[in-house]
Amino acid sequence: MPLPAAAVQAALTKGGGRCWYCGLPLVAASADFTIDHVIPRNRGGTDLSGNLVPACRTCNTLKGTGTIEELREKLAARAGRVQPPPGLIAVARRDGRRETPRRMEPRDLYEFHFERAGLKP
Ligand SMILES: [Zn+2]
Repeated sequence: MPLPAAAVQAALTKGGGRCWYCGLPLVAASADFTIDHVIPRNRGGTDLSGNLVPACRTCNTLKGTGTIEELREKLAARAGRVQPPPGLIAVARRDGRRETPRRMEPRDLYEFHFERAGLKP
């Protein structure tokens, strides 16, 4: 069943007109604009607004019926980044602050648009 137009518009607005994952600017009527279920329907995700985010067709296709963390690994691989060996220590810079050395997390490999922008679904 297609989503109501109001739910689609609300999702696009929530993302600031950009793909929730890669940040690509989206136009409502374009072929590249899709609605993603953050928790896939086949894993119990609903059509409620808290589970709906705007996504470009590329990110939505890559994510498929996977989770956000599975998509992160795929996008990191596309960006030419590889999974760090276990135990590797990273010193990351975020917001101009130097962080203390710590284990490298998947988020160091690929940070989503919604994380950079501080958006909540
Ligand atoms: Zn995208």
